[in-house]
Amino acid sequence: MFEKILIANRGEIALRVIRACREMGIRSVAVHSTADSDAMHVRMADETVCIGPPPGNQSYLSIPAIVSACEITGADAIHPGYGFLSENANFVQIVEDHDIAFIGPTAEHIRMMGDKITAKETMKALGVPCVPGSDGGVPDLETARKVAAEIGYPVIIKATAGGGGRGMKLAKTAKDLDTAFQTARSEAKSAFGNDEVYIEKYLGAPRHIEIQVFGDGKGNAVHLGERDCSLQRRHQKVFEEAPGPAIDAETRARIGKTCADAVASIDYIGAGTIEFLYENGEFYFIEMNTRLQVEHPVTEAIFGVDLVREQIRVAEGLPLSFTQAELALNGHAIEVRINAEKLPNFAPCPGKITAFHAPGGLGVRMDSALYDGYSIPPYYDSLIGKLIVHGRDRQEALARLARALGELIVDGVDTTVPLFHALLQEPDIQSGNYDIHWLERWLESNLNT
Ligand code: ADP
Repeated sequence: MFEKILIANRGEIALRVIRACREMGIRSVAVHSTADSDAMHVRMADETVCIGPPPGNQSYLSIPAIVSACEITGADAIHPGYGFLSENANFVQIVEDHDIAFIGPTAEHIRMMGDKITAKETMKALGVPCVPGSDGGVPDLETARKVAAEIGYPVIIKATAGGGGRGMKLAKTAKDLDTAFQTARSEAKSAFGNDEVYIEKYLGAPRHIEIQVFGDGKGNAVHLGERDCSLQRRHQKVFEEAPGPAIDAETRARIGKTCADAVASIDYIGAGTIEFLYENGEFYFIEMNTRLQVEHPVTEAIFGVDLVREQIRVAEGLPLSFTQAELALNGHAIEVRINAEKLPNFAPCPGKITAFHAPGGLGVRMDSALYDGYSIPPYYDSLIGKLIVHGRDRQEALARLARALGELIVDGVDTTVPLFHALLQEPDIQSGNYDIHWLERWLESNLNT
């Protein structure tokens, strides 16, 4: 069993992992940059190690610094959180070579899913439905034209090493293809150091539905239903809910089983998310994330399980603490991502928090590393909190969200809270009738961005 876990992350997710460790009687080690000396995760951990200056590549992304911090403190495992090194197969390999356990999948699985072409081929072979598209990478313009004509326009050109919505370009018709192809390639090259791209049919009005899976690394896996994360701005999720308003029990059981069987057959270990676009009753695989997701709390709320605890357990070699039959979905949960950003342009808004009050009461969870007097450093992403509500049904969850947002106080910086107040007034949000383009359209007509 682990005695001490080092958390290679910061912010709310570092706190989230520290909380799970404490409940399990495991000591926690926080690492931090010099910009984060006063951060909440540093205050809450049992031990702390400063690992470098503020820029991520000199601290939270520095493999030597993190492995050294493990050795200094005698930590026997690393939890990577999300972002930073969480999907870096090279990091996992190095950690394992140092006899430190990695709380997550193997380097091999991370590599397999990190390359989107390999991921798609693997999933297709495992019976998971995929978006129609090129067979593998598209090496040149001539091939691109041929493939696009075969699939039919519109098409989307995507970076095989892509992530965070970068390196994706839409070609509505054949005349957009040349520019879209070249731009996607050069963006992919500069963002990921790899210019390989592939082509997919562009779906006009899908929902983003993702399935939470969990494997024990020994051929057993379960699914914990879906999350609908269709409300996105620039391919970044802002509002997530579970269960998905468009998914019924039979559909959930069917796609859930397909996903659980797929990951079981590759002996997947730990938490994973299989992402789909969902249109006209069909699922189309887009990618798999081999880590805990930002939006995992909505799943925890409706299934009443602690996913970080499960991650730690399976990394210790223990079985999952629940079977598929024991997982019963209860009620409805919604998460909103609160960013320190100024509307209408969503410009990052770091600065000092002059007052902070988290909402409470039945069915309300606030995961945040904020406190009164905290200064949000300008070096990292702008997520400062996640407000998660749980109700007996969607209506109750929506009412609870409005109530909780009303109680929340974050003074000193601008936040995305006003966006959620406004969204909750929208009939489409109230009825759950939205697709992946809904929010962009709404922002354009309501905020003029
Ligand atoms: P990333 O890894 O960069 O986040 P994804 O493949 O997960 O890229 O896609 C991110 C988002 O881009 C999706 O949630 C969806 O909004 C949009 N998208 C991706 N593929 C398609 C497609 N074939 N058709 C329409 N939209 C797409």
